[in-house]
Order: sequence, then structure tokens, then C-alpha cells
Amino acid sequence: MAIKRSSDSPDPQQPRKKNLAKQLNYEVTLLSPQANTQETEHNEAKIRPQKLVDYIGQKKLKGILNMAIAAAKSRADPLDHLLLYGPPGLGKTTISLILAAEMGVDCKITSAPALERPRDITGLLVSLKPGDIIFIDEIHRLNRMTEELLYPAMEDFRLDVTIGKGQTAKTRSIPLPPFTLVGATTKAGALSSPLRDRFGIIQRLRFYELDELTLIVKRTAEILNTSISETGAIEIARRSRGTPRIANRLLRRVRDYVQVEKAKTITEDLAATAMNLFDVDAQGLDWTDRLVLNTIIKQFNGGPAGLEAIAAATGEDRKTIEEVYEPYLLQNGYLSRTHRGRTVTAKTYRHLGYDAPEPKQTQIELL
Ligand code: ADP
Repeated sequence: MAIKRSSDSPDPQQPRKKNLAKQLNYEVTLLSPQANTQETEHNEAKIRPQKLVDYIGQKKLKGILNMAIAAAKSRADPLDHLLLYGPPGLGKTTISLILAAEMGVDCKITSAPALERPRDITGLLVSLKPGDIIFIDEIHRLNRMTEELLYPAMEDFRLDVTIGKGQTAKTRSIPLPPFTLVGATTKAGALSSPLRDRFGIIQRLRFYELDELTLIVKRTAEILNTSISETGAIEIARRSRGTPRIANRLLRRVRDYVQVEKAKTITEDLAATAMNLFDVDAQGLDWTDRLVLNTIIKQFNGGPAGLEAIAAATGEDRKTIEEVYEPYLLQNGYLSRTHRGRTVTAKTYRHLGYDAPEPKQTQIELL
């Protein structure tokens, strides 16, 4: 049985803190890597890097794209179709917009759930101008019919449409202007192989390092006309779960707090106090992360525990745990995953203030 050293989390001050945080426009999804409505509005456009040189980190990817842009320009061809995979918030949409700007073409942004009917994708394809880019988010969720319309479009810039029904049905081919498809997915493995094979470039985006995130925080602060110290930027970067979208969101919230406190500059102390108030701890874990980890320790004796069981015990949605919380906890060694379920690690016990667990007894049968 794990013994807790410090005060039990979740924290009893939670309702009071939540009220305060609410005044500061804090959303419960502060650390979710998904975009929220506020971020899709105009201030997001200001923050997004417009050129590849302003895109921080992801060095290997930038090298490959620089080469692809130069080659496409010298041949006066569109760019190869590009598949980007990795967790949300790492800069896939941004890359697509940058590529369009660098190539001097338009970028149409959509996502697989918005392409449900065949006419959604055909409408999009016939509206393209030569060289344009289509960005399809969550491309692994395309339905079969839409996918099949995309194959000849991607390969031969041709749209095969069926006119009429039954025996009188005829297939017509409509030529399309050459274009580039940029597909984004969190799960490259979930893509069908015929679709995956049609991408000329397949690249993974990785979580950002602390120094890269610090640069992103400083760059955004400058765009938002906010004064921030180096250590203040590092403090926000450290709690951003390797994700630029979260770094920018935390910066905005810390900025609100600093404004309410009538301070001039975001310092390390102010940043830390604000983020503690928002329940984002020193390692970038929030209340739900700690609830999940505490539940595995207390109710499942450290694990292994199945996802369903964890969801039921915490009252959280299974998919949210799997897609929002778990990737960071796994990546950073707070959780490990085996075929039998999720298990917490020694690092988790330390971080949450528990004494290290006693090693599990293995039964040795003496013959
Ligand atoms: P995704 O499409 O992978 O979910 P986005 O491209 O929408 O992520 O990026 C989220 C936000 O993070 C963007 O608004 C952008 O401002 C910022 N961002 C992402 N990558 C970078 C980067 N490499 N450098 C600077 N800012 C970035």
C-alpha cells in the first residue's frame, strides 16, 4: 500500500481556486493540446509563424521541406503530397500554411469529419487553382468513399465521378489542376496503406525541447507586446508539455494574471504563482493528470489497470484519457503501458509525494 507523505491531491482548495481561475477566463482544458474556439480566432493568426525560418524547432522536418520547396520551385511543379503525424498542437496546420506562403499559393483547411459526403471532397477539389494546398486534419478518419475519390486525384490529378445509378451508371473523369495534399494525423498507423502510399513525404513531428519552447514563448510574448523575463519564459515552457499550443495558451493566461496583479513583467515567480493557481504543477501536470495517477496508485495498487477501469474510477472519459492525458504521461515516464494495462512508475510516486512502493512479491515455487 502506498503511503502519501504530503497533503492528498486532488487539493481541497480546488473550488476556491477554480472560481478565481474562472475570473481569469481559465478553461478547464488549459492543458489540452487541441485548439479551442478562442484560439481559432484572429489573434491566433498573428501568433502563427508565417515563414519556415520563423518556425522554431523540428530541424529535420524543416530541412526536408526546404529541399522540397526548392526542388518544386525549380521544376515549377507543385510540392509532393505530405503526411504529417504527431500529437495535436505541435504545428502541423502551421506547416501547411507556411508551405502555401512559401510557394505563393492558397491553402484550404479542412478536416476528415467535414468531408462526409462525396460532394464535400469533389467540391473542394474542383475549386482548386494550380499549385494550391489542401490541408486535411485527422485524415485517418476519412470514410472509404472519400478516400477512393482521393486516390486518382492525388496520383493523376483526376476526379472520377459516377453519373447515374445502376446499369446506366457511367464514370466520367474530370481533370484537376495539380495540387498538394497535406494530411495530418495523430495516428499514422490508422491510415489505410493505399492512402499512406500516395504521400511522397511522410514526417513525424516530435514534442519540443525546453529551449525551443522558451523561444516560442518569448516570440509570442513579443507579438502580444508583453514583457517577460528569460526565467519567466523558461517557467512557462517547462510546464507546456512539449507543445507550442499549450505554451502560447499558458502565456496568455499568465499574462492575464500579471495584468490583474498590476505587474509590468512576467517574472519566474509570477509565472509560477499564476500556473499554480491554474493547477498546472511544476512538471506541467494538471488536476486530471494527478487524479488519474493517484487513482492508479490508490485503487489499483500502482497498476496494471485497464483504461476502462481508470475511466470508471476517475469519472473521466476514456477517449480523453487516452488522447489528451496519456501521451504526455507515457512520453515523460509517469506511466508505462503493457498489454495488461497502465502502471505508474517510481517517478510518479516521487512526484506525487508518496514513499516508494515495496517491490511486488513474486511467488517462487520450490520444487
Ligand atoms: P496542429 O495543427 O499540429 O494541431 P498548429 O499548427 O495549429 O498545431 O499549432 C498550434 C499553435 O502553436 C500555432 O498557433 C502556432 O502559433 C504555434 N506553433 C506551432 N509550432 C510552432 C513552431 N514550430 N514555432 C512557433 N510556433 C509554433
